[in-house]
Amino acid sequence: MSAEFDGLVAVVTGGASGIGLATALTLADRGATVAVLDLNPEGLDARLHGFGADVSDRASVDAAIAAVGEKLGAIDIVVNNAGISAVGTVEDNDDAEWARVLNINVTGMARVSAAALPWLRKSQHAAIVNLCSIAALNGLPQRALYGASKGAVLALTYAMATDHVADGVRVNAVSPGTVSTPFVERMLQGFDDPVAERAALDARQATGRMVTPEEVAGAVAYLASPTSGSTTGTALEVDGGVAHLRVRK
Ligand code: NAD
Repeated sequence: MSAEFDGLVAVVTGGASGIGLATALTLADRGATVAVLDLNPEGLDARLHGFGADVSDRASVDAAIAAVGEKLGAIDIVVNNAGISAVGTVEDNDDAEWARVLNINVTGMARVSAAALPWLRKSQHAAIVNLCSIAALNGLPQRALYGASKGAVLALTYAMATDHVADGVRVNAVSPGTVSTPFVERMLQGFDDPVAERAALDARQATGRMVTPEEVAGAVAYLASPTSGSTTGTALEVDGGVAHLRVRK
């Protein structure tokens, strides 16, 4: 029996950790050939092909996408997952931090997509999935810069979906709530009381617990799959109910 992603090549940025790693392994398990583009692609699972790349640098992205094409012969799916956190109000992050985070979280996705589009246009099942966040939809405390970056990712997703629908390239987003990954662990260390902050993050989810990376990976895989061939320009929330439920505690 053929698997869902048989014959398809997927690129996952930031695929060496957290949500990206879970996504890369899910796609590989379902038959895809998977290229991981990451700052640190060493020591990856044998099912994954690692490529060093910095999404904040155009020359690095162009070289990595060219290397994927040369080695694997095609690119059908791009998962724009690489992203970094930022904590604080507008009074806390300086201009350099704004430029750094927007360059990775927003321009990075545009850069990788632009480099991959010539390959995607040749595919019968082309799909891009951008990792957004419920921070794009809700006014989360202490996330001014991060929320702004993810709001831009949502708008970018809709604009790209429009621009490339005629090319046969679908573009969708997944908006996780708080997911238990190294990204969140590092962010917690920035708080005076990381244990209390972790409990608050669990409690913020209507389900009472953080989302797992595998739950997000399943949603990304759905939007990347030929089975969602009529779905483009959407954002799927995988957020434990944070965005829309108002549960009495
Ligand atoms: P993570 O920190 O566990 O992993 C991020 C990966 O991206 C790492 O492997 C890192 O090396 C790589 N990376 C970082 N900067 C890079 C760059 N410039 N070039 C190439 N690779 C780079 O993060 P995660 O929690 O798995 O988050 C992944 C994505 O999901 C991010 O876009 C994040 O904003 C989004 N997200 C995360 C959460 C959460 O709660 N964890 C919630 C919503 C959205």
